[in-house]
Amino acid sequence: MNAGRSVLVIGGGTVGNALAILLRRAGVRVDLVELDPDWSALGSGITLQGNALQVLHELGIWDEVSAKLEASGPPGPFPALGGPHVPHSGAMYRPDLQEILCRAVRASGADVRLGVTASALEDVGDGVVATFTDGTTGRYDLVVGADGIRSAVRRMIGIEAEPTATGLAIWRVHARRPAAAVHSGLAHGRPVYIAGYSPVSPTHLYAYVVEDARPRAEVEALDAAAEMRRVAAPVEGEVWEGIRADMTDPARIDYRYFEYLLVDDPWFRGRTIVIGDAAHACPPTLAQGAAMGLEDASVLARLVSSAAQVDAGVLAEFMRLRFDRVRLVVETSVQICRALLDPDSGINTFALMGQTMQTLAAGDPARPQGATP
Ligand SMILES: Cc1cc2nc3c(=O)[nH]c(=O)nc-3n(C[C@H](O)[C@H](O)[C@H](O)COP(=O)(O)OP(=O)(O)OC[C@H]3O[C@@H](n4cnc5c(N)ncnc54)[C@H](O)[C@@H]3O)c2cc1C
Repeated sequence: MNAGRSVLVIGGGTVGNALAILLRRAGVRVDLVELDPDWSALGSGITLQGNALQVLHELGIWDEVSAKLEASGPPGPFPALGGPHVPHSGAMYRPDLQEILCRAVRASGADVRLGVTASALEDVGDGVVATFTDGTTGRYDLVVGADGIRSAVRRMIGIEAEPTATGLAIWRVHARRPAAAVHSGLAHGRPVYIAGYSPVSPTHLYAYVVEDARPRAEVEALDAAAEMRRVAAPVEGEVWEGIRADMTDPARIDYRYFEYLLVDDPWFRGRTIVIGDAAHACPPTLAQGAAMGLEDASVLARLVSSAAQVDAGVLAEFMRLRFDRVRLVVETSVQICRALLDPDSGINTFALMGQTMQTLAAGDPARPQGATP
């Protein structure tokens, strides 16, 4: 049924790659364009909770993922979000995850072009004609913008939403793993708002501290390694002593603002839709950003590959299945930032996280309870 169906995926990050793999598996023709000629992923580590791991399992790359995944330790107080085949949660070195996904996209038979993007998208009713920056054109049944929080596709289809700052920023480092770092560790409270670490391999971990956002020019003028050591100095414990001792190379340190975005329903215009961070992004206070994007990819691939035709009805059904769930994650993640910034806010962060995780575990409308994902 899908042999004649074609989808253009713009952006080969976690979400675009996952979508391309799933669509190819269903026999859909997929072109993927990625602006970065190296198709790389920046950053240190990523925490992947059960629902993210469930989609990675669904992609057929579980052996490779589990070989690089460090389990986060004994399950915490919150319910599992994945199925029986995946752990409660784990962490990975981001470039490892990207490498596995890129390999799977290539193997899927998707047509990948790097250093290229769409410069124009013309909706012609029963399809979209894309013009590319390499001078070529193509016609597709559906175009999916998975091009991240500053999505050009979002603007091209006339959605004006842009990210909002929360007032917080995060320093992250990929560092050698001190022997005492058996599992991940997390603390909320002063003097830094959040201090945490997660092992990403037997030898390394990623660690982070969250503080008030400062102007980028001010931060860029500093030695990133010395500055992260200074910000993390008050965090106590043997693990942190070891992490600080390995904060020596500015190239392994990343500074980012906590921002959020939630595009109003619908995330599509005609036959072009945005998903993942292009449609919704959140500060990582619940570690659910990529997880929500991976869920988007899974749901969209299933709907597109099972529908008689790709039309507004399919995209409206996608929104019905996704919007409230994603909104809950974005709003909770932002509320946690507010609680951190204002100790008098009256928000009980732990209770809020618990309620949100319970709702996520109980109520995925795309996966009715009892259904095997
Ligand atoms: C500090 C921080 C920590 C986080 N930690 C976690 C975590 O622990 N767990 C979790 O689940 N989530 C986490 N997240 C969220 C997670 O990183 C994102 O939700 C996820 O990366 C979004 O994936 P994406 O594919 O939608 O976008 P991206 O990862 O941004 O990928 C977009 C891709 O599109 C490409 N691109 C951009 N513009 C164009 C264009 N015009 N044309 C073609 N290609 C283009 C980019 O090069 C990139 O490859 C964190 C976010 C931040 C900021």
